[in-house]
Amino acid sequence: ESQEAVPAGDVRAEYERLVDDVRRYRFAYYNEDAPLVSDAEFDLLYRRLEELEQLHPEIVANDSPTQEVGGEVSAAFAPVVHLSRMYSLEDVFSLEELEAWVERASANAAVQAPEKGLRWLAEVKIDGLAVNLLYRDGQLVRAATRGDGTTGEDVTHNVLTIKDIPQRLAGTGWPSEVEIRGEIFIASQGFLELNEQMVSEGRAPFANPRNAAAGSLRQKDPAVTARRPLSMFVHGIGAREGLSAASQSEAYGLLRDWGLPVSPYFKVLDSYQEVLDFIGHYGQHRHDLLHEIDGIVVKVDDFGLQRALGHTSRVPRWAVAYKYPPEEVHTKLLDIRVNV
Ligand code: NAD
Repeated sequence: ESQEAVPAGDVRAEYERLVDDVRRYRFAYYNEDAPLVSDAEFDLLYRRLEELEQLHPEIVANDSPTQEVGGEVSAAFAPVVHLSRMYSLEDVFSLEELEAWVERASANAAVQAPEKGLRWLAEVKIDGLAVNLLYRDGQLVRAATRGDGTTGEDVTHNVLTIKDIPQRLAGTGWPSEVEIRGEIFIASQGFLELNEQMVSEGRAPFANPRNAAAGSLRQKDPAVTARRPLSMFVHGIGAREGLSAASQSEAYGLLRDWGLPVSPYFKVLDSYQEVLDFIGHYGQHRHDLLHEIDGIVVKVDDFGLQRALGHTSRVPRWAVAYKYPPEEVHTKLLDIRVNV
């Protein structure tokens, strides 16, 4: 409450320490695929940084990590400028925060486009890494990681080894240039097998499927990537001039027709109650899916409304990620408690 009681120097010192930590942890996570702390720990630090910035707007640095999409471009890869920017997602960690977000977005949407009814597209949040696929005249010509959102890393040769991803689009009606965004992941079963294999070769196993996917995609030698069980599900569209879809769910139908892998775990919903039911359902079944998830993404389905709502420098204003509380898992093997 009484913020005045905290000496200004202490606030600045805490702020600078947080900025340093967030930068260091992001570098380890995105560039080295070797996180130094758990996601839950990182999220707490990041939240505290956002809170300090809200309480003390005067200390916000221009290049604060809260203003950027995390992830630099490693010198190991050629840089690729995305045709259309890639964003991160705003996180919420409780249903109260989600409800507040939904109310804000609904009010905003009502102002922007009062004639439109609001429908939500709820999807599971896949724990992998984003990739941007550029198809020109139906041919996959480039694939890049998200990087800082403007510039990503060229991983075309590696992506060409992933069987789920078509090198040529099927059907007809695709724009002459279209950017397809999706999440590259390793399915739970494939992750177990990959780690068994790593251990049998005397190598360190991966900490989690997300690291395994990122480490496997960001390889210098595509032959290594080719041996890893990588999959992808689409979750967005970038540059799309000439795309004949009015909503994200309609676009998913087109992408499926073109041979792109669309997740079985999404639903178009008409009310907030239905969103809550979706969250409850996947909260109960999160370990029965093909892959790991760390939450639910709720998006405004209509493309016109998405455009009207726009984005900040870091996140779209038409989507939000609800994160499930971290689980405490009791591993019998090691008889220790770990947070995942
Ligand atoms: P994010 O992972 O929270 O959300 C944005 C990303 O979600 C998108 O870029 C996309 O790749 C992905 N995504 C998955 N399913 C999706 C779907 N259905 N629709 C749309 N997007 C979907 O954001 P971020 O900025 O990449 O990273 C923050 C996350 O990374 C946090 O969870 C944080 O804990 C973790 N992180 C951890 C460390 C660490 O040291 N452990 C460091 C940095 C970041």
